[in-house]
Amino acid sequence: MTAINQSGWKPEMTALRPAQDETDVAGTYTGNKALMLEEPLIFEIGHDGSTGIDLAEAPQVASRLGGLQRNRDIGLPGLSEPEAVRHYTRLSRQNYAIDLGFFPLGSCTMKHNPRLNEKVARMAGFADVHPMQPVETVQGALAVIHQLAHWLITLTGMKAVAMSPKAGAHGELCGILAIRAALTARGDARSVILCPESAHGTNPATAAFAGYQVENIPATSEGRVDLEALKARLGPDIAGVMITNPNTCGLFERDMRAISDAVHAAGGYVYCDGANFNAIVGRVRPGDLGIDAMHINLHKTFSTPHGGGGPGSGPVVLSEALAPFAPLPFVDKDGEHYRLVEEETVGEHHDKTFGRMVAFHGQMGMFTRALAYIMSHGADGLRQVAEDAVLNANYILRSLQDVLDAPFAHSGPCMHEALFSDDGMAEGFSTLDIAKGLIDEGYHPMTVYFPLVVHGAMLIEPTETESKATLDQFIGALRSVAGRAKAGDQSLKSAPHHAPRRRLDETQAARKPVLVWREPEQAVAAE
Ligand SMILES: *Cc1c(COP(=O)(O)O)cnc(C)c1O
Repeated sequence: MTAINQSGWKPEMTALRPAQDETDVAGTYTGNKALMLEEPLIFEIGHDGSTGIDLAEAPQVASRLGGLQRNRDIGLPGLSEPEAVRHYTRLSRQNYAIDLGFFPLGSCTMKHNPRLNEKVARMAGFADVHPMQPVETVQGALAVIHQLAHWLITLTGMKAVAMSPKAGAHGELCGILAIRAALTARGDARSVILCPESAHGTNPATAAFAGYQVENIPATSEGRVDLEALKARLGPDIAGVMITNPNTCGLFERDMRAISDAVHAAGGYVYCDGANFNAIVGRVRPGDLGIDAMHINLHKTFSTPHGGGGPGSGPVVLSEALAPFAPLPFVDKDGEHYRLVEEETVGEHHDKTFGRMVAFHGQMGMFTRALAYIMSHGADGLRQVAEDAVLNANYILRSLQDVLDAPFAHSGPCMHEALFSDDGMAEGFSTLDIAKGLIDEGYHPMTVYFPLVVHGAMLIEPTETESKATLDQFIGALRSVAGRAKAGDQSLKSAPHHAPRRRLDETQAARKPVLVWREPEQAVAAE
């Protein structure tokens, strides 16, 4: 590595990031553009011999690793404390966050998280509990889990809830394992799970992971499950169906009751992907629709900062038919005392459990946030959540359908998200250009190219927490960008122009990710 000065910065670093093309802003000495701060990789600025802390010389003791000791430097970058702090703070400022602006990512429910929930989750009695503590010392935490379970059962009209799954997809697995256990218990192993074309990708993945064959059910021209096609495929090999409702086209599956009846009549079970529960909470009880299992994404409907991989929590509500197979452990109440039902304590009424999803009890931080959210909204407030989420999505749909193709606008009101396609753009312009143009306007793009049933899909979920003014500004920005794509404005093809990074080669990034830092000289030599 070339010589570096004490601060870790090297003069040639600016040259590592030359202007990328003639439309790029003329380079500054530092590479910074005012408060938009450039930041190299930590391996580019780190250097040996620097550290944020002074440790006493390690005592010379005999190795307990029996010859397995490290025989070469592992190459961790050394930085002083302010260098390390600034590195991560600078990187964090290149991130987009719900606290910075409107986050229209469809299917993800990126909404404002009330600070009250954060305050509650940080209370020592909840934040510092340990899963191995004696139950007498965590009665309050168990009460939170029990009360939240009660709310979830009440809101969904179901019989039981498994609280421990740690995300939506994990909840799907829990539900499918309960279905499999129920089928096994009656000696009727079945091999196929049906998923509609518009299913969220995690649904077929979960069914395949659990060992089922996955088959598609087509959608109607309205964007809903084709009931007749589904009925035609039902038979003794169908373990169940997995249906997202509201579905990924943003539509409510109006035939849900008929779907459930048909599947039950054929001996199968109905799994509902309830990640989008915020569109119907307080208005529809999935239990009334004949659903056997449904996960709820606490980190979507019931608030918790998420994105970037976590944290999540995906409790699964279960019907009477599946409740006996629910996983351990769970919280039960004897009089005023909360207790844990685990393998050793499981009574006769629950000896059919299929096992465990996780080592302990699930995501305590998410439970406290969700219960705080639910209690601060109350039953009427939760109902309003659904109404406002749907109102906001319909406002987006109807405000943009004259400039963007809305393939299911004729199917009636949408639920929590509005779906558009890239039909009608100028030759050579597509959804990707619109998404990149939105970055220049200061927005995280909407979900793109999903669901797959629509060409060049753009899926926008405004959520209930956005004001009309916020939506109007976004609608204005999207109208402007869509107008440019329709007019064939070439500058849009190279957007974003104002972001820290210009348009990246996404195919190359996905197919040939550079996961190991190489010296610049080597990197050049390797090409
Ligand atoms: C988010 C989502 C999931 C997956 O949830 P994770 O917590 O990310 O595993 C599944 N289905 C739908 C419809 C979703 O929106």
